[in-house]
Amino acid sequence: MTIARFSKSFTQQEPIPEEGIAAAVEVMRSGRLHRYNVAPGEEAEVSALERELAQWQGSAYALACSSGGAALRIAMRAAGIGAGDVVLTNAFTLAPVPGAIVAVGARVVLVEITEDLRLDLDDLEAKIAAHQPKAVMASHMRGHLCDMERLSAICDRAGVPLIEDCAHTMGAKWNGRRSGSFGLAGAFSSQTYKHLNSGEGGFLVSDDADFMARAIILSGSYMLYGRHGAAPSEEHFRQARLDMPNTSARMDNLRAALLRPQLARIEDAINRWNDRYRVTANVLATCPQIVLPRRPAQEDYVGSSIQFRLPGISAQGAEAFIARAADLGVELKWFGAGDPVGFTSAHSSWHYVEPQSLPRTDDVLAGLFDMRLPLTFTVEDCRQIGEIIVACAAEQMAGDAS
Ligand SMILES: *Cc1c(COP(=O)(O)O)cnc(C)c1O
Repeated sequence: MTIARFSKSFTQQEPIPEEGIAAAVEVMRSGRLHRYNVAPGEEAEVSALERELAQWQGSAYALACSSGGAALRIAMRAAGIGAGDVVLTNAFTLAPVPGAIVAVGARVVLVEITEDLRLDLDDLEAKIAAHQPKAVMASHMRGHLCDMERLSAICDRAGVPLIEDCAHTMGAKWNGRRSGSFGLAGAFSSQTYKHLNSGEGGFLVSDDADFMARAIILSGSYMLYGRHGAAPSEEHFRQARLDMPNTSARMDNLRAALLRPQLARIEDAINRWNDRYRVTANVLATCPQIVLPRRPAQEDYVGSSIQFRLPGISAQGAEAFIARAADLGVELKWFGAGDPVGFTSAHSSWHYVEPQSLPRTDDVLAGLFDMRLPLTFTVEDCRQIGEIIVACAAEQMAGDAS
């Protein structure tokens, strides 16, 4: 096989916009890095970011936090979830999701996913009936939204609050409505590999004033919540201000300064991700062995990563396939690995969660591969990557079959 090796890094993001760098330098010059440290008449960078985020998202309220995981923890605690309560979440997600549930003392019950990597709503309904959960944490893992109208109807009917983990769907929509606006709250991450990059960071959005007042106090606002950029009015804090513990998970002005110009450009970034996704998907689709998840017409996705399956591939075959792709410079993640590597997503490796039987999810993950599509790749790069994967897959599946 004479195919050129790909040489760019799969973890290299774009630089921070110059405007963001200048604003961050300004924050450092001022010395006022803490979000509540403001000069008279000044609006802190964090407050401005919250205001702009709420406006962009179309939510009444927004809270900036220290990480996406912190936003999830705060959301659960603000929703009244505590020790021994059951929270349902996808069996296919990233470790901070079960981690956040466990961190508030709750029990994780995992829900199957479909072949298209979406939350299996039939299994969700069955598990709501069987476990009487206190919340559903729908994690839109790798950007695959389930039928959001059906999901919110299921949760409404059962009287269970819905919290969306939108770490991979910031900017995605279902029937024109933004991910993060279908339930009680939506949580986002601005950790380096997500749709905005401040190293670490996260957000919570909601239209529920009392919930958001509790969340703001939980984030560590002390009695300075009046300085927030997208917070409910004073009366909603009356109860929360003394009842909610301070769990210190604030964002600082430096990070917010880096994020504001990125948020202003996010629609352009989404278009560029989708150009890269479509080219890669089109090349992968030429290989009969490769199965791409279907993308429903109701979904406006953000193709910041791509997933595909090689159904029936053996464990040995999967290892050989990713090794061959790695030799050609293409970094694939395989979700069926027995031992967790890198960012972990295999439910069996979360020993803080009771072991659960998820045969359909396991079957999907056994043949599931994943790859980031950073914006530092050109569309041409994506075509080359696609061709490398197709060549490796065809070679591997021919070998596996013989
Ligand atoms: C990254 C991520 C999170 C949490 O984000 P952090 O900011 O790293 O805490 C939550 N869910 C998913 C699916 C993620 O990928």
